[in-house]
Amino acid sequence: MGARKRIALYGGTFDPVHIGHLEVARKVCQLFEIEKVLFVPAQLAPHKLSRPVTAPVHRYAMLALATQNDPELVISTFELDAPNRRYTVDTIQHFQRELDDSTELFFIMGADSWSEIDTWREWKRLLTMTNHIVVTRPGYEPETTHVGRHAERVIDLRTSLECGDQAPLWSRSSVVDNKAARGRRTPGRIFFTDVVMKDVSATNIRRLASEGRMEELVNFLPGPVLDYIKKYGIYRELNEAKLIS
Ligand code: ATP
Repeated sequence: MGARKRIALYGGTFDPVHIGHLEVARKVCQLFEIEKVLFVPAQLAPHKLSRPVTAPVHRYAMLALATQNDPELVISTFELDAPNRRYTVDTIQHFQRELDDSTELFFIMGADSWSEIDTWREWKRLLTMTNHIVVTRPGYEPETTHVGRHAERVIDLRTSLECGDQAPLWSRSSVVDNKAARGRRTPGRIFFTDVVMKDVSATNIRRLASEGRMEELVNFLPGPVLDYIKKYGIYRELNEAKLIS
């Protein structure tokens, strides 16, 4: 059987997209030989949240600016276009139907999302319906106790990288291949990787922007995204309420 094409979905609020997200997407692409990463920004009903979420049009625009020079990073409006909120389990099901058997699907999440995966809708089904890639994040140690027997499907690539951290990415991929038996049709493998460990969060970015500390944001955002935030005053406190869709 020939190697299957690999596509990864990367769900999130992306309010705003930052260099942590971009580094995760780029590194995961290389490590897992993924052809495309689809950023799937979530549509969140602002009235249901403890904080206002920036309007989808701005979150989309910032994603478009951030990914414009990476052909393998693309955006899907599948969740944004829906009349009602779509859950990750629905999104994965949709892409599984769209993509044929020649494509292997992955879902990317950070270690913080993993730590609360057991609160996600239909999480047990979610964990078995596709492959998952859990990326380390400072302050979050990926545990497995909360997922019970699903822990059996975890393939920990963090310290088990036989080639070491400095190994060329092609040999890291072969580690993935050996451990994960590329081409095998059973999905539901859960990979842990420490290929990225970046201390950046959208919460901190919003806070800095609302305090007008724009010069500090250069460390966390691609230039065009920072320019966009400044131009439209995205996280200026007064504006935030106006921007809710
Ligand atoms: P917030 O601070 O608003 O919660 P965030 O920075 O976590 O935002 P999200 O849009 O919620 O960004 O994240 C989308 C996905 O990216 C989630 O699975 C999250 O765990 C992951 N992620 C975000 N930042 C990082 C990071 N620095 N390293 C690894 N994964 C990350």
